[in-house]
Amino acid sequence: MLTLIKNAQIYSPESLGICDVLISGKKIVQIEKNIDISGNINIDVIDAQGQLLIPGLVDTLVHITGGGGEGGFSTRTAELSIYDAIKGGVTTMVGALGTDASTRSIGELYGKAKALTEDGLSCYMYTGSYEIPVKTITGSVRNDIIFVEPVIGIGEIAIADHRGSQPTVSELARIASDARVGGMLSGKSGVVSVHVGGAEECLELLFKVARDSAVPLAQFYPTHMSRNSNLFDAGIEFALQGGTIDFTASTTDHILAMGEIRASKAFAMALNRGLQSNKITISSDAQGSLPHFDDEGVLDGLEVGRIGSLFEEFALCVKDENIPLEIALEAVTKNPASICGLINKGQIKVGGDADLNLLIPGDLTITSVMSKGVWMMKGGRVCTKTIFDH
Ligand code: ZN
Repeated sequence: MLTLIKNAQIYSPESLGICDVLISGKKIVQIEKNIDISGNINIDVIDAQGQLLIPGLVDTLVHITGGGGEGGFSTRTAELSIYDAIKGGVTTMVGALGTDASTRSIGELYGKAKALTEDGLSCYMYTGSYEIPVKTITGSVRNDIIFVEPVIGIGEIAIADHRGSQPTVSELARIASDARVGGMLSGKSGVVSVHVGGAEECLELLFKVARDSAVPLAQFYPTHMSRNSNLFDAGIEFALQGGTIDFTASTTDHILAMGEIRASKAFAMALNRGLQSNKITISSDAQGSLPHFDDEGVLDGLEVGRIGSLFEEFALCVKDENIPLEIALEAVTKNPASICGLINKGQIKVGGDADLNLLIPGDLTITSVMSKGVWMMKGGRVCTKTIFDH
């Protein structure tokens, strides 16, 4: 099946101007100023009429099976709906457990990742959870990365958080080197996604591991780096030393009032501090719980992260923070694909996967979403169904 998208303003993320894009099967096969296909062939031609064509978003932290549960069983959050991902323009994601690897399991995470992929998106996963010792599929972090196809790394390992296992320097170094070697042997990234809580130590543990072991700092990929201004400062230092940092899109007014910096604002602040844009990503933390603890540390409220927040923060980067569209776009497409080693994702390029979003210029509304060459949403309407909706 061939699809030709004509007259689109392409941001690959770099601006390529108005071009046509030819898609064959799952792949982009040609990008030119004018592609003419004549003759008796079966081709779907779409005139984008100057809409923006951007890569499908890549979300490196989605609690696809749900997360949370910190307020008892009734506070366990629901699993991800594929329709929410599609409406939010997210075509590639990395699933993760979180606080709870007891009533939820790594096997369940694997099943949901495979289901989302069978239903048309591209879903990868981290082995493990907040917890140490790490709960894996094969019994080893290294073997999970090597032998289990959707596993691209480990995470979220929790540090600086009362909900984590309080790992030591040597424990974390061992886990990171296992992930690193697993990645090297399998051609995957072996990235270590690190959930960073609000404790004062911030990223101290990661700096210690890099100082006291042979594991490079860049093996770690800390998230929630806009949780407060201390953590933001630590993140800038981490990125200036070569690492990539992640800001969290899902938030609440309450959490912002407690000192969190909105991801789009944190991005603008990081650029102003001299950080290179390729060291920054944003992820949604979708389906994670957004717990509220009172002054005594007692949970007194809970909301749920949304995958749609990722695109919304990208749009705020452009509209409110005046970050150039191609720079803002990198943080939700090319950069997250790069740190996760997903070489065919996050860019509009010949040979890359045909994961695409069409947007209305100006207000940046998503009108159409394509994943692996198949329209998931077209003209504002979701046009795919899971087996349960047939
Ligand atoms: Zn987290």
